[in-house]
Amino acid sequence: MEWLFATHNEHKLREVQSFFSQGWLLRSLKDFQIHHVPKESGDTLRQNAFIKWKAAAEAVSIPVFSEDTGLEVDALGGAPGVYTAVYAGENAPADAHYLKLLEALKNEGDRTARFRTVICYSLPGGGCAYAEGFCEGRISTEVRGLKGFGYDPIFIPSGAEQSFAEMELDLKNSFSHRRKAFQDFLKKLNEMQP
Ligand code: IMP
Repeated sequence: MEWLFATHNEHKLREVQSFFSQGWLLRSLKDFQIHHVPKESGDTLRQNAFIKWKAAAEAVSIPVFSEDTGLEVDALGGAPGVYTAVYAGENAPADAHYLKLLEALKNEGDRTARFRTVICYSLPGGGCAYAEGFCEGRISTEVRGLKGFGYDPIFIPSGAEQSFAEMELDLKNSFSHRRKAFQDFLKKLNEMQP
């Protein structure tokens, strides 16, 4: 099975590559020399996943999947959510985003949060469908660890003591929203088999 993962994010690509078993041929936008980054102008993760899926699906003739991820913080009413990537500004570096979040929660006792990933994937007859996964956890009170990417240094999944950025990839995968979204995606693909 050959699939294009419509992302320019090398970290996401590496994580998703680690989920794929033999028999799957995973292509990236780089393999197709697609450099265009569509504007993520949706109001929901689903809409943004669709925007990324559509741009890639119009450019290639193999099945495509895309994903969009957000971090929902309960004390902030679910923010930054769909705006997670631009929380501290469009071109801000990764640490500016999570430092802004730590500052916003400085005096907050409720630190519960979750990562949510929505996948948009091609259907055999045309069009697309969605899969989803989430990971409950909490926002740490300080920056912890050097691995991973994005908000990993401040997110501790439920049932763990380490932040995602303190975990090897296999351990992050055992908790992660992205892993769970892929399980849902693969389950839905299997259910479509005759
Ligand atoms: P997007 O899905 O590429 O729009 O990413 C949204 C934001 O969430 C970006 O700031 C990413 O760095 C961050 N992000 C996405 N997935 C993860 C993850 O697994 N861990 C930490 N941060 C993530």
